[in-house]
Amino acid sequence: MNFNKYYFFLLMFLIINIFISCGSDIASLIEEDAEPITYKFGYEESKYVFEEKKVGRGDTFGDILEKQGIDYPLIYEALEKTKNDVNFRVLQRGKPYTLIFTNDSIPSLKAFVYHPTIEGYSLIQLRDSIFGKTFKKDRTYKDLSASGTIDNSLYLTLQEQSIDPLLTYYLSDIYAWTIDFFRLDKGDKFKVIYTQAYVDDTIPVEITKVKAAYFIHKGVESYAFEYETDSIKGIVEYLDQDAKNLRRAFLQSPIKFGRISSRYNLRRRIPLYGNRIRPHRGTDFAAPIGTPILSTADGTITEVSYTRANGRYVKVKHNNTYTTQYLHMQKANVKVGQSIEQGDVIGWVGMTGNTSGPHVCYRFWKHGREVDPFRQKLPEAKPINESLKKKYLNDIVFIKSQIDSIIIKNKTSI
Ligand SMILES: [Zn+2]
Repeated sequence: MNFNKYYFFLLMFLIINIFISCGSDIASLIEEDAEPITYKFGYEESKYVFEEKKVGRGDTFGDILEKQGIDYPLIYEALEKTKNDVNFRVLQRGKPYTLIFTNDSIPSLKAFVYHPTIEGYSLIQLRDSIFGKTFKKDRTYKDLSASGTIDNSLYLTLQEQSIDPLLTYYLSDIYAWTIDFFRLDKGDKFKVIYTQAYVDDTIPVEITKVKAAYFIHKGVESYAFEYETDSIKGIVEYLDQDAKNLRRAFLQSPIKFGRISSRYNLRRRIPLYGNRIRPHRGTDFAAPIGTPILSTADGTITEVSYTRANGRYVKVKHNNTYTTQYLHMQKANVKVGQSIEQGDVIGWVGMTGNTSGPHVCYRFWKHGREVDPFRQKLPEAKPINESLKKKYLNDIVFIKSQIDSIIIKNKTSI
């Protein structure tokens, strides 16, 4: 009995021991697997505390650091030392940034990281050694297609399909002079082949361009193919199925960014003038004082002058048919007789003459009559030469067959 008991305990001891040793082996294995060293923005996650915040209104790099108790001389030194590696001059409101603190009893700020998009980040390390670093993920690209039937607007049709709204912007730009996107008809149809950029192979970040598009508006078909018409200057245009340029000889707007504050309207009523009709024969583009004003087409300067109503203005003769005029300038940048090209800066936005706010009043003359440029069938930009046209018609065969093979989606049923 004792003997048995002895053996029993011995056996138990051995078994337990085996389990213990196995157990500890397993535990150490798990330990190695469970806690691999991970990094965030290049810092070991277990050794630092990461605090993510969003850029507030008017926040600057200096403000954010000062709030963390960093003295101005250190902020200045950090910016000086890293000026070739990072750029924190403008932090976009609402974009995320991360403060990295040491994991000590008294945490101190080790680094500042600005990461406005998932595509990358910029970082300044403030302790131990000061340095700056900008990191950007590699992109991959894929061609995708979309199509639809307009019910309300192109924007909403694309939104229903969860496509980046940037595509609306690209399409309205390509067809700016041939289709009025504010007056699309219900039932208009479109197809498009575009390039989508990704990071980490699967996360979409941006549509980079439209390669080909197709629209049926008021029963008329219009193709657009992206094409390099000048390889030396790297000029890329959109041409239609007959090699006609979709761009017109005139820019849509004499300023790059801004909004139309008042359209051409012969029946405009102004309360200030007793609600009488005061026709507006120009299109007003509101923009800050000093914004460059561009000539909307090639031409010759015929007037640089000043009147009480117009303020400082410039008039450009484009050919025997078209003349444009730009009013209320702060300053003109051209002289009478000078030849200019489309997009040249002819002056700057001001509020000279009879105006209540900074804007450029853009006037458009056809055969000596003032007309609404947005209602004109404007001439095509320089047509491409015959030999390039032949090459173009040959080069688009494949992509045209691709776009033709897309079956247009009817209104998606939700
Ligand atoms: Zn005006």
